[in-house]
Amino acid sequence: MYSRKLTLLLTSSILLVSACQQSPEPKAADLILRGGHIISVDPSFGEVEALAIRDGRIENLGSWSLIRRYAGPDTRVIELEDEWMAMPGFIEGHGHYMRLGETLTQVDLRPAQNWREVVDLVVNAAEEIGPGEWVIGHGWHQGKWERPPEPNVEGLPLHDQLSALTPENPVLLQHVSGHGLFANALAMQLAGIDDETENPTGGEIVRDDDGHAIGMMREDAASLVEAAVAASRAGESAAEQGSKLRRFSELAGDEALRHGITSFQDLGASFLHIDIWKNMATEGRLPLRMYAAVQESSEVMRDRLASYRMIGHGDGFLTVRAIGEKVLDGALGTHGGWLLEPYSDLPRSYGFEVTPLEEILASAKLAVRHKYQMAIQGIGDRAVRELLDIYEASFKSRAERHDWRWRIEHAQVIHPQDLQRFVDLKVIPSVQGIFACSDGLWVTDRLGEQRTRNRGYLFRRLMDMGAVVTNGTDPPVENIDPIASFHCSVTRILPTGQSFFPEQALTREQAIRSYTINNAFAAFEDDVKGSLTPGKYADIVVLSKNLLSVPDHEIMATEVLYTILDGEIRYQRESK
Ligand SMILES: [Zn+2]
Repeated sequence: MYSRKLTLLLTSSILLVSACQQSPEPKAADLILRGGHIISVDPSFGEVEALAIRDGRIENLGSWSLIRRYAGPDTRVIELEDEWMAMPGFIEGHGHYMRLGETLTQVDLRPAQNWREVVDLVVNAAEEIGPGEWVIGHGWHQGKWERPPEPNVEGLPLHDQLSALTPENPVLLQHVSGHGLFANALAMQLAGIDDETENPTGGEIVRDDDGHAIGMMREDAASLVEAAVAASRAGESAAEQGSKLRRFSELAGDEALRHGITSFQDLGASFLHIDIWKNMATEGRLPLRMYAAVQESSEVMRDRLASYRMIGHGDGFLTVRAIGEKVLDGALGTHGGWLLEPYSDLPRSYGFEVTPLEEILASAKLAVRHKYQMAIQGIGDRAVRELLDIYEASFKSRAERHDWRWRIEHAQVIHPQDLQRFVDLKVIPSVQGIFACSDGLWVTDRLGEQRTRNRGYLFRRLMDMGAVVTNGTDPPVENIDPIASFHCSVTRILPTGQSFFPEQALTREQAIRSYTINNAFAAFEDDVKGSLTPGKYADIVVLSKNLLSVPDHEIMATEVLYTILDGEIRYQRESK
């Protein structure tokens, strides 16, 4: 289906090119790119000399003698230098747009090298905002610190030192995985957590040997603290909330465009978020193209899914046709990913079923009824298998339908027996290249060497088997940086310099496809984006290096020079 459709596209673009060659004088383009390496990412993966854009669409591309005919008196021409590359704009295949915007207003804990540095950053922030206010931070991960905290429980810090230094501010520190948080004493007090509090279903209040809560809330235990934050904001009016969400949207948009991203797939949007984006899209103010997967309970979705389904609203800026990222399981970093066999470094645990299977099943039934795509998180091999089972049963329930494109988000651990099922069922492994390098530092502790080799982060294997492998960085879990994820996808080199199962590295071409046409396919948008093809949206990124040929060690130095969206330059690197 995939390749046949692409072949048709190729044929129609060839026809269009020859038709244009015969026409005496084509209409003048708004913008022309010329020189450098213009890579089409069509099936031939060809390189052309120039490309013309008109009315937000790609008008034509090919030799300069062909494209120069589109140059009129008002046409802007960007001359690309020899080492530059132009390609379809990056599509972020899995992220959390509002959270990305929100984290841009919070304390960034990613630079901290140890627990002491985390505490220092939080104390500074508390002094700045004054007593009584919540200090919200994000981006810490105990596995990425230069040394474990002392004392610790299962590698996690204890809250005492932090609490002593922040007695007047409740503190909430999101784990980088998004599957847990750390709270200080005041935050736990406001959340009603003490030594007697029982673990909520699907979550764990981590305790020391004496039964004292250490501050760490795994998976659904985090919601206790989040509820306390929400309660502190209960006085906010709908208008205040709306303008705050618009601000988050704008911040996230600027950050994405700076990184060459022209489309963003949001895997977990509430109806409220969608309302905001819809208004922004109607006004022409949504910063980039959004693909939103609804994350609400099946109870809430039942009555509203039908009216929220929209494709290309606001001149192709907002599409809603998926249900996600309802999480079936947690993350490997917090021992939450649901496994078929126990964790190697925590033998008492198989991870978590975060959302009950019945709820996923209820969502799948709604998806079938309302023609929505399912895009549910399955990280561990048990979660992946359960989802494949549910998807397969859903497909069989409507055997007359063929083009489902249901996705499993992350699909980090896959049992060998389930690999072929992705291809046979045409289920999309919605993976993130960068995770192989960020998780590679510690994931062999969690799974053991052998299990990681056979089941973990099998991106090349899946691609070679014929699955449509996507790419992204799950922002704000990781930086919204396609270059970093591309680098990891093609090198599998860890920050330490070691390489993480390099046999699973993608080729350059595969990695570019994963970030463009494959992501477009995973959103039913390969007819309008993902390649430089006449008639498609003029969403293009210009880079300072050619990703097809730059040496491995220079990939990370690649800069985004221009981000063109809908035919307009929406980001341009300031000249040095
Ligand atoms: Zn996610």
